[in-house]
Amino acid sequence: MKTDVLVVGSGIAGCAAALAAAREGARVTLATKATEPEHASSWWAQGGIAVTRDDPDSFKQDILSASDDTADPDAVDVLVENARTAVESVLFETLDVSFDADDAGYDYGREAAHSTRRILHVDASTGRHILGPFLSHLAELPSVEIRQDTAALELITHEGRVHGAYLESDGEIEPTFAGSTVLATGGVGALYPQSTNPDGSTGDGIAMAALAGAELQDMEYVQFHPTVCVGEDPFLVSEAVRGDGAVLRNNDGERFMPDCHPDAELAPRDVVARAVARERDRTGKVTLDVSPFDFATVFPDLAQMCESRGVDWDAGIPVAPAEHFLCGGIAVDSEGRASLDRLFAVGECSHTGVHGANRLASTSLLEGLVWGLRAGGAAAGFDPQPIEAPELLDRDPALPARFAEEKSVRLRRVMDEHVGLERTPEELKRATGVLRRLKGEVDAYIRTRTSRELYELRGQSVTALLIARAAAENPTSSGCHYLSEEQTPHAD
Ligand SMILES: Cc1cc2nc3c(=O)[nH]c(=O)nc-3n(C[C@H](O)[C@H](O)[C@H](O)COP(=O)(O)OP(=O)(O)OC[C@H]3O[C@@H](n4cnc5c(N)ncnc54)[C@H](O)[C@@H]3O)c2cc1C
Repeated sequence: MKTDVLVVGSGIAGCAAALAAAREGARVTLATKATEPEHASSWWAQGGIAVTRDDPDSFKQDILSASDDTADPDAVDVLVENARTAVESVLFETLDVSFDADDAGYDYGREAAHSTRRILHVDASTGRHILGPFLSHLAELPSVEIRQDTAALELITHEGRVHGAYLESDGEIEPTFAGSTVLATGGVGALYPQSTNPDGSTGDGIAMAALAGAELQDMEYVQFHPTVCVGEDPFLVSEAVRGDGAVLRNNDGERFMPDCHPDAELAPRDVVARAVARERDRTGKVTLDVSPFDFATVFPDLAQMCESRGVDWDAGIPVAPAEHFLCGGIAVDSEGRASLDRLFAVGECSHTGVHGANRLASTSLLEGLVWGLRAGGAAAGFDPQPIEAPELLDRDPALPARFAEEKSVRLRRVMDEHVGLERTPEELKRATGVLRRLKGEVDAYIRTRTSRELYELRGQSVTALLIARAAAENPTSSGCHYLSEEQTPHAD
């Protein structure tokens, strides 16, 4: 099969790339392993999408401060300068998203570490109100073919150029040749036992790019969200709730954030997440006190989620940190170009430099939209060149019973215990060794088998090792990479 632009992943970043490429006249194949839109993190985005109002300088400063001044100022400029046009042209004009508004205009929300109200939202379920119309719009474009339940397993490469990917659908594997390939495969939540991400967030795109030789950056910066409602069916309680005045209390009823940071509950995420974890360890429980305002009226979606799980918000919502977002990923330039020819990466699987060591709330949807549009435009215009592509071996498709499940559980335990919110150099070294062996066990099966389950496990094992290794090699605490016992650099 041949296509001009192969986009892998159907979250906001993949959709934006597909739209922009189609607008440039390209034939686009959008391959996604999702069978439902909710299999993308984009669907679950709550708080909303930040946008530049008349405040580009303060928006830029907020992003830089939240990142511990590690974000790339040039990348932040690209985001801030293109935000308004991207939101207006796609979300307002093309998709007609009905963001919350009143007679005075849009009801801009505020979240942690934003100095002002600049977040467009639809209740606290913004993602689905963007992704639903986006997928419907693309489905109507004659030049875009959406292939659901179709997983990219491996990139096709030849002499430093990417020529497409092997796609698996219904057990059949077929090379798809493309003029250019855009990876938009999202995050890595499946590497941790507690995550806000959908289950399929196995890091496939990052692993495929790394194995093909693409450069990665900042893989150690894994962001944990501080307020995930704990219980059998956990769910994220948006930062917007703290933005509207909710406060965190420990099991003794004490508010602890004012002692941790001048911005208290609106401190950067890494600070709040570590404080919540510490207070949970110390006192047994942390709750989000939503009594300062009428929770059910201001956040009807979240109130409904609480109700359906039997959580009484008047008693405080029980919360804990959970893995949420990978700040690093496939290194790309201002148009989403990776270090391999004709390979692009957008959204959470990419590293644009916007987030540095810690992401500012509600900038991820925006990054996916802005870079998706830029990369999609830049990816158009190349003809596919079918090359001799070796067959993926499938000599013995049956894996040992429960192989993938057992390895996955082990991998999550290692990541949770040693590569989580707080790390030590010794633990990271140990984790790297265990993960290297685990990856070796998976690789032994990959040589002769091609099931999607096995390739997802490979995605997990490669990405976990990359994160642990990057963390072990970075002796400096910053943002999401927090060493509880600082390593002293060697004098020589
Ligand atoms: C609960 C929650 C709330 C959030 N709230 C906000 C918010 O309010 N504001 C904000 O800015 N950000 C928020 N985020 C973060 C943000 O939603 C994500 O970072 C962003 O949506 C990622 O978009 P994406 O397009 O890169 O990836 P995703 O939306 O995750 O899409 C990835 C796609 O790739 C597909 N895929 C993966 N691997 C393969 C493969 N091998 N082959 C084919 N397809 C594949 C998946 O099926 C999926 O369709 C939130 C995240 C979560 C989980």
